[in-house]
Amino acid sequence: DSTPGDPHTDRRPRQVHGALWSKVQPTPVPAPRLVAFSSEVMALLGLDEETMRSAESLRVLSGNALWPGMVPYAANYGGHQFGNWAGQLGDGRAIVLGEWVAPDGTHHELQLKGAGPTPYSRRADGRAVLRSSIREFLCSEAMHHLGVPTTRALSLVATGDAVIRDMFYDGNPEAEPGAIVCRVAPSFLRFGNFELCTSRDDVALLRQLAGYTLTHFFPELGTPSKETYGAFFAEVARRTARLIAHWQAVGFVHGVMNTDNMSILGLTIDYGPYGWVDDFNPGWTPNTTDAERRRYRFGNQPGIGMWNVERLGVALLPLFENDEAPLEEGLLEYQRTFEAESTRRFAAKLGLSSLDLEGDAERVRDCFAWLAAEETDMTLFFRGLSQVVATPEAPRAWPEALREAFYGQVPEAHLARGLEWLKAWWHRTRREEVAPTELARRMNAVNPKYVLRNWLAQEAIDAAHAGDDSKVLDLLEVMRRPFDEQPGREAYAARRPDWARSKPGCSAL
Ligand code: AMP
Ligand code: MG
Ligand code: MG
Repeated sequence: DSTPGDPHTDRRPRQVHGALWSKVQPTPVPAPRLVAFSSEVMALLGLDEETMRSAESLRVLSGNALWPGMVPYAANYGGHQFGNWAGQLGDGRAIVLGEWVAPDGTHHELQLKGAGPTPYSRRADGRAVLRSSIREFLCSEAMHHLGVPTTRALSLVATGDAVIRDMFYDGNPEAEPGAIVCRVAPSFLRFGNFELCTSRDDVALLRQLAGYTLTHFFPELGTPSKETYGAFFAEVARRTARLIAHWQAVGFVHGVMNTDNMSILGLTIDYGPYGWVDDFNPGWTPNTTDAERRRYRFGNQPGIGMWNVERLGVALLPLFENDEAPLEEGLLEYQRTFEAESTRRFAAKLGLSSLDLEGDAERVRDCFAWLAAEETDMTLFFRGLSQVVATPEAPRAWPEALREAFYGQVPEAHLARGLEWLKAWWHRTRREEVAPTELARRMNAVNPKYVLRNWLAQEAIDAAHAGDDSKVLDLLEVMRRPFDEQPGREAYAARRPDWARSKPGCSAL
């Protein structure tokens, strides 16, 4: 309540000026059912299983009731979508229930995604389908367990409503089951919240928003001033660079890196048509609406991150007193941080403590080029390297451990080139100070065995549509320990099967 809100409380779609949020009640749903919840988020918030499974919690998590003290609101923000300024967007289907103080003293916003219309819904229905909700619920938690900064998901509730999407899904434009995810994060503020104020020349509102953000989320930077705003921008740039370096290292493609989907806290936010690369293909995008330009393809994410950070910096210019130095400095910070983080992460994936030795930079470049040349599974390849590193001698033939990473028949010349690379890399690992078994252990701690492959999520969705939620629960369980060998669950670490090859049905709106 420390920032200006919208005096109107109806859901009429409209432009909201001079306010950062609008009070709005969730719209009740007919027959809510708890499909899944995250026990880690439950514990974080200080809840227990009995509470999670209670009828009262279900009412709150479905938007049918509020706990005392909850004052629900939708946030007002704008954004650059696919490179163009899109004006006011706002929470069209997300409603924050309130702020929760956890037993450890940390604060968390609880937000229902799919809880019905808000003043920002424009002509859409404010609802989410089960398919996209399963994807958001599972991926938030999978990312967290991988160590990637992300908004969390407390619960996944099926609403009993039928939701109509005017898009083709599985060749079927009919109604789909609706659902609501309860997302959890310290804040859902986006670059677009700042951009909207500046786009309307509302510097007073921008100042209030920035003041609120600094006080609550960046208190270490000190009291608001031109200098602290510059330091704030540099910190957001750093966090964003670190986040995207992490995405690249695990093969996550966000799919809609519009500035309204960029968290001011450097979290992964808004899981829509995201995907995981199976084969290491820098040109791949999971977003079927971006298939032509491929703006948000895997290999473009670092550059887009910088473009987005620049949009934020431009929005903050009034707070820099129109001095461009803090903007330039923040962009440099982004580049420096991305470079350092990306180097650090890929070195670790290769079992190396640095990429400082002669030939290391080239080694990584060659590896990427080789991986991209023939369809090769990124996750299986890097995971398999830890078996090669542990062998007492350099490989003389193509290792069995890496064979399953190929999607098809690979030309002999490609294998031979790969083997040369492997040998040189194996010898390079011998210059590390730790024993090969320890190197293997370290590599297994950064190269996940299990990631939420698109086809896995799709299988869980198909089963859920047929009335069986057990695959959602299985996946949630597997993704809790992505770096561990999980005997009996090897199927979850398998290559993408042929049926999933070019199926665009994994996109979700
Ligand atoms: P996205 O591309 O999912 O980040 O969404 C962009 C904008 O569209 C945001 O303002 C969303 O709140 C809004 N939006 C997306 N889906 C819906 C929906 N089903 N109902 C209302 N607003 C939506
Ligand atoms: Mg969004
Ligand atoms: Mg979305």
